[in-house]
Amino acid sequence: MAGIPRAEWETGDGSFSGHEKREIPRPVVLVACMDEALSYGPGVQVAGVAGSGITQLGGGNQEMFPDSKRALVERVRPKLFRSLDWAASQVGAGLEVTSHVGCGWARMQGISDRVLEKVTGQMVKAEGEKYLGHIPFADSPVDSGKPGVAAAILRSPSDHHHDAKSIVLTIGGFITQDEINELSGEFGKPFIISADWLDYFARIGGDVREARDFIKLEIDVACGICQGLSETNSLRIYEAGRLDFRVQSNNSDYFRGWEAVYSSFLGKL
Ligand SMILES: [Zn+2]
Repeated sequence: MAGIPRAEWETGDGSFSGHEKREIPRPVVLVACMDEALSYGPGVQVAGVAGSGITQLGGGNQEMFPDSKRALVERVRPKLFRSLDWAASQVGAGLEVTSHVGCGWARMQGISDRVLEKVTGQMVKAEGEKYLGHIPFADSPVDSGKPGVAAAILRSPSDHHHDAKSIVLTIGGFITQDEINELSGEFGKPFIISADWLDYFARIGGDVREARDFIKLEIDVACGICQGLSETNSLRIYEAGRLDFRVQSNNSDYFRGWEAVYSSFLGKL
């Protein structure tokens, strides 16, 4: 290194100093609903969380989505967001949270489209995260206002018919639209559910049993709002390989017990 001036190879004010270089836009991991009709522009990595984890007690469909389950979501949520934030940092990205027009998870709790944007914004702020906004109905992804981030919901707000054929659990660092398209071709349109956060959730003292109950709830609701989707033959685990191998492997381990529950139905990609 004799010929290199010291400042050029030593850390101190450069990218290894631990300070974010604010002038360079960071890639984005978008927390978005699991809904199969959501579509994303290139460059976006998606963490599917049903309704972005929004809850409201008291109203809606108490039979399919009782208050006891909504309370479970509320207990899991703080560490869920902390863990998603961490997982996003592991792929060099920042976390941005969204809501969307015509959300079945919200509707099932009696949260109308009219107030969903406001309610989600407040929840996200309370969790210390950034709310990017309400994903609109359009026939292709529209600009979010944040460079390189586009999304749309392809189903009109008045149309509550879902046509998903599979459920994909991501454990290795989220999923992109290209990857979703590939899986759609093979297994039919998927609901996207992130389980990328479980390893870190456990490490910060989260109740893993409750975290898995939350993911099971997401699957139950997906099956509840989508006729023709059967959890017993449609669950797939997707490993993008973007998270550290051990983290991905630990995330995967949390679903080992599920293989007994879902028997041979749990396909592994
Ligand atoms: Zn939704």
